[in-house]
Amino acid sequence: MIVLTNTDGARGVGKSAHLLGQGTSALDAIEAGIRIVEADETVRTVGRGGWPNLLGEVELDGSIMDGTTLRTGAVGALQGFLHPVSVARQVLERLPHEMLVGAGAARFAAEIGAERSDNLTADSRRSWQSWFEREVPPDLRQAWPDVPMIDLCRHAIDPETGRDTTVFLAQDSNGHIATGTSTSGWGWKYPGRLGDSPIIGAGSYADTRYGACACTGAGEMAIRTGAARAVVLYMKMGLSVGDAVEEAVEDMRRLTTGLVSRVTIHAIDAAANHKVVAVNGNPSNTYWMWRDGETEPRCHPAEIRVITSADSKPTASLRYAAQPL
Ligand code: ASP
Repeated sequence: MIVLTNTDGARGVGKSAHLLGQGTSALDAIEAGIRIVEADETVRTVGRGGWPNLLGEVELDGSIMDGTTLRTGAVGALQGFLHPVSVARQVLERLPHEMLVGAGAARFAAEIGAERSDNLTADSRRSWQSWFEREVPPDLRQAWPDVPMIDLCRHAIDPETGRDTTVFLAQDSNGHIATGTSTSGWGWKYPGRLGDSPIIGAGSYADTRYGACACTGAGEMAIRTGAARAVVLYMKMGLSVGDAVEEAVEDMRRLTTGLVSRVTIHAIDAAANHKVVAVNGNPSNTYWMWRDGETEPRCHPAEIRVITSADSKPTASLRYAAQPL
């Protein structure tokens, strides 16, 4: 058994660990842990209290994946509900679909009786208002919101303070592996922008046979490299969890255009080994982990890798490619 989460998951990981220890399924333990983070207004990047988009609206993304059935549920740009992870869980349980976004996601949330919430707290509103007054020129303010926004999202909030997510990866006492994510995405993002968190295969992926991966940070990078699915696939192809994550780092090294920033890659394997690497990270990038037999979750520093050029190093994949299939 194992549960692993990023820094922002600290408030929920104890609950998940406790539930796993009692024999609860990985899916239920993850959902319960993430719900605590979503409801905690002091976590500014997830759920209520999260950063709003350019229009001052809080749009939430979340997902959950069952690594045994490969069923997934995801919601994107959901407004007005407290627990995107639980709405995502019900997409998994009750629909023949895997993802809902925007008005359709909100409609579904209402239909299942999900808890409503005004997620824009007074503090988030104040932050947005002061950005609006500082950064938006007077002529645009007068015509707001019917104004061009492309340039405005280029001056989004400092990505290192205004961006994060929570991700949970777990293996339960029956060996089942699951992942879950929840985020408000970037502060001052372009309305409708989805990051990696609701995109299964980019921000998370789980396969009980091999392991799981989930990412935080610049979701655009995880989307472009298909990071989470890639890590699990690399494990399927025979790489250790450590080599699989290093290979995903090498995939990101090829990104020299577009947004190239920080991404933290969290991964576990089916034997409860793990690896967490913060690409372009810093010492504040930590993770929390609990394993069977430990009394409580503990915080650890992520390993840091810096990607500065497109040069590709000979990596595990090249060694793998040299082997006959
Ligand atoms: N990955 C999230 C996104 O791109 C944000 C983050 O984790 O910093 O929306």
